[in-house]
Amino acid sequence: MFFYSVLFPLAIDEGFVYRSDKRLKVGQRVLVDFKGRVRIGVVLKEEDEPDYQTKPVIEQLDEEPVVSCELIKTLEFFSFYFMAAKGMLLRSALPKKLFETKKPIDLKPVVASLEFRERPFKLNMQQEEIVNSIDTEGFSVNLIFGVTGSGKTEVYLSLIERVLRRGKKAVVLVPEIALTPQYIDVFSQRFSNEAISVIHSRLTGRQKFDNWIDFNTGRRPILIGTRSAVFVNFKDVGIVVVDEENDESYKQESQPLYNAKDVAIYRAKSVGIPVILSSATPSFETYYKAKTGKFRMFEMHQRVGGIRLPEVEFVRPDGDELFAKETLEAIGDTLNSKKTVAVLINRRGFSNYLVCGDCGYVFLCPNCSVSLKFHKKEDVLKCHWCDGVFEVFRSCPKCGSLNVLHRGVGSQMIEEELKRAFPGAVIERFDRDSTAKKGEFNRIINSLRDGKIDILIGTQMLSKGHDISQIGLVVVFDFESLFVMPDFRAEERAVSLIMQTAGRSGRREPGRVIIQLNSQDNPFLKYIKEHDYEGFVESGLKIRRLMNYPPFSRLIRVVSESTNKDKAWELIGLVKERLEGRFDFLGPSRCPIFRLRNRYRYHIIIKSSSIIEDIAYLKGSVYNELMKGKQKGGQGGLYFDVDPISFF
Ligand code: ADP
Ligand code: ZN
Ligand code: ZN
Repeated sequence: MFFYSVLFPLAIDEGFVYRSDKRLKVGQRVLVDFKGRVRIGVVLKEEDEPDYQTKPVIEQLDEEPVVSCELIKTLEFFSFYFMAAKGMLLRSALPKKLFETKKPIDLKPVVASLEFRERPFKLNMQQEEIVNSIDTEGFSVNLIFGVTGSGKTEVYLSLIERVLRRGKKAVVLVPEIALTPQYIDVFSQRFSNEAISVIHSRLTGRQKFDNWIDFNTGRRPILIGTRSAVFVNFKDVGIVVVDEENDESYKQESQPLYNAKDVAIYRAKSVGIPVILSSATPSFETYYKAKTGKFRMFEMHQRVGGIRLPEVEFVRPDGDELFAKETLEAIGDTLNSKKTVAVLINRRGFSNYLVCGDCGYVFLCPNCSVSLKFHKKEDVLKCHWCDGVFEVFRSCPKCGSLNVLHRGVGSQMIEEELKRAFPGAVIERFDRDSTAKKGEFNRIINSLRDGKIDILIGTQMLSKGHDISQIGLVVVFDFESLFVMPDFRAEERAVSLIMQTAGRSGRREPGRVIIQLNSQDNPFLKYIKEHDYEGFVESGLKIRRLMNYPPFSRLIRVVSESTNKDKAWELIGLVKERLEGRFDFLGPSRCPIFRLRNRYRYHIIIKSSSIIEDIAYLKGSVYNELMKGKQKGGQGGLYFDVDPISFF
């Protein structure tokens, strides 16, 4: 008789032991009875005979393992590191269908339908040098730090080609679902369309499953995917690319909290292949690791074809006006020369909200302590945190007054103002909401390419489009509003966003950037003007060092939440007791969003100088003692966020 622990894609930390009269392999799927229900699980490891009654494995589903030992080891490690339930990681890692279909899955290698197309130009010297100095036969982490349009993509395309020619596969992680069609375009110009598999969360279950199989068998050996794609089997993978490595979407902000960039590097090390991190504005952490020799750094200072980076001007609107005179003039000039204007606004800073004209009450979401945003088109109020949609209040819930006022500058207001100033101009909006519909992102990108859009008003999304040469002017609407974030990365985020967006301008010929601001005192202006991201990071790192913030320490955020306010406070107090004397930490304090989806929230931020040891300690103390014990009187509990990005 053999014994195996079997893991299910559920919120559980460990596998459950079953017996089998046949020998099984780690990574095979089996059918078992789990808590009275027949379920599909994955064999985690062989066990000794336990001293309790075990249930039998009902059926072995696959001939060969569908999950590699290396992936299982990865899940084990990150379940430890991110303090996340192993079963939840398993669930993120594999297509759902794997746990629904009893049909055997066969991942035997098949011949790829590969084609290599000639690149229409020769690599320049800079590109050639980088491509030649990256060894694709062993592990290394390589940061390609190059200004927008310097030809970074071409560098990793060449490396991928080399790897594919040796019969290996390539994994390319991309930050945004909406961007995948653009990546597919670029890749299919070089390799046949049939060689590309795609994984992201907007595919149907069936599509995800098919793509997963096609990549794992090698039929489609180039994978383009968002963060969860990092969990495909890495057997025969020869290179991993993390494009726009600074993008925060590599971090999953719901359970299980994990960062795909870390997973990519960990796995590349396990299987001995290079990682390419690419960005015009690398994260402070990555930059610092590259600077101090932990990663390799390759810099690309020149744009392809020697095109200059755009001219940056700073202007201050007068009094109440939305746009400064200079801005309107520049927009007019750009439209006259048949080019597109992009206006960057900050989603968080720009929204309409309602306030009572008599008592000053701000209309809040009933489930969260944030103001509701007014959406004019649909005439509703929305909470951007819990996705609640509410009817527009006609009277103040606090004092009953009918004097309800609209406040804040919404993107609609900006649109109306521009329509007034430039009647006849074609104006489009470009943000999460306007591109949520399938195909919308591409429609806008294509209209842009065809020169059909005069003015594009957008959020963070604007910084992400690829090589849009049509943009002649970028306007940053309200510089200061980009900095309002409740954490130490606010500046990194804002400056990187501005530089990335500025990079969209004038990819073929030099463009202009106008930044509207209230004060010229900001110490970052000179770096922005000179496109000196490196100088900005160096100065920012000095402050991080002084404050002992990442990359000079690692953070662990502990959040307690409960529908009962006192319970949440009590729980975070217990955490504090256990941390005192051993850790340097901030808090406990209210989370910036104190109430979210009806739960009250407190947090503590631990500064760790020895992360693995500290996690091990937390697991043994706080985690095991406090997470397991169910709370009485209120729903909720604790969660841990290792290397947190969001502090809301
Ligand atoms: P990045 O990724 O750094 O923003 P890309 O790799 O997308 O830059 O390159 C920008 C544009 O320049 C693309 O249209 C690309 O095809 C083109 N390009 C890249 N390398 C060269 C080269 N050596 N010669 C001519 N054109 C190039
Ligand atoms: Zn009121
Ligand atoms: Zn809400």
